[in-house]
Amino acid sequence: MFNPLRSLTALALGGALLAASGCTIEFETPSSAQSPRPSASAPRNSADGPKPGGTGGPGQGAPVNESELQQDIASARQVVDGYWRQHWSELFTGVYRSPRVHGAYDGNDLAGAPTCGGQPATKFNAYYCIPEDYIAWDINLMRAGYAEGDAWVYLIIAHEWGHAIQNRLKMDLVAQQKELQADCLAGATLYGAKADGTLLFEDGDVKELSNGLVAVGDDTEWTNPQDHGDPIERITAFGRGRDGGVRACLPETAGA
Ligand SMILES: [Zn+2]
Repeated sequence: MFNPLRSLTALALGGALLAASGCTIEFETPSSAQSPRPSASAPRNSADGPKPGGTGGPGQGAPVNESELQQDIASARQVVDGYWRQHWSELFTGVYRSPRVHGAYDGNDLAGAPTCGGQPATKFNAYYCIPEDYIAWDINLMRAGYAEGDAWVYLIIAHEWGHAIQNRLKMDLVAQQKELQADCLAGATLYGAKADGTLLFEDGDVKELSNGLVAVGDDTEWTNPQDHGDPIERITAFGRGRDGGVRACLPETAGA
């Protein structure tokens, strides 16, 4: 998966982080992308860390080429931001504003990681910080998924960007199940960019996307609307955005 324009903008670090209250950090954990799923009777905390012995992440895939990883991250940011910038006015009122992108932190050295509303970042996670409007990710999370294929970083960034979009929408356009809506928006964004010609899919990308959604799906039963959903729900939500675009991700009651 790549951006044919190949403008390799450097990963810009966010500016000063101002403390605010009411942070919602979400947890995105690709627990075992390459191994068989644990049984449904083995609930997994969505906030748990990598499995023991996996300092480099769960991947059994090829060793990660760091410069290619950085290029794909930069490309994913550019593609996703470009999609929303180009299409916002077709969909919503007002003017599109990009979220800030803090980008990578090292989950093994959280002292240097950003905070969100005074809360520390967590290991092996990616998140959108609502009160400070920025996106960040543990580079080890990106690396681990990237070992399975480059589509991973596009999926993570498009999903987190989807949360930034939610935060820009009127309340009635935000679905109760925010995580599934973010997956839907990720599908709309990546396939919308494909239709625009700003993102090219390569062999294996579709499979990588579905594997990625499986990896981040919760095995637990739904307990509240903030849950991520199980793998099938996540793939279904992503597919709804892929097939129907952004509008298909909005609540039907919104009349949008
Ligand atoms: Zn999310």
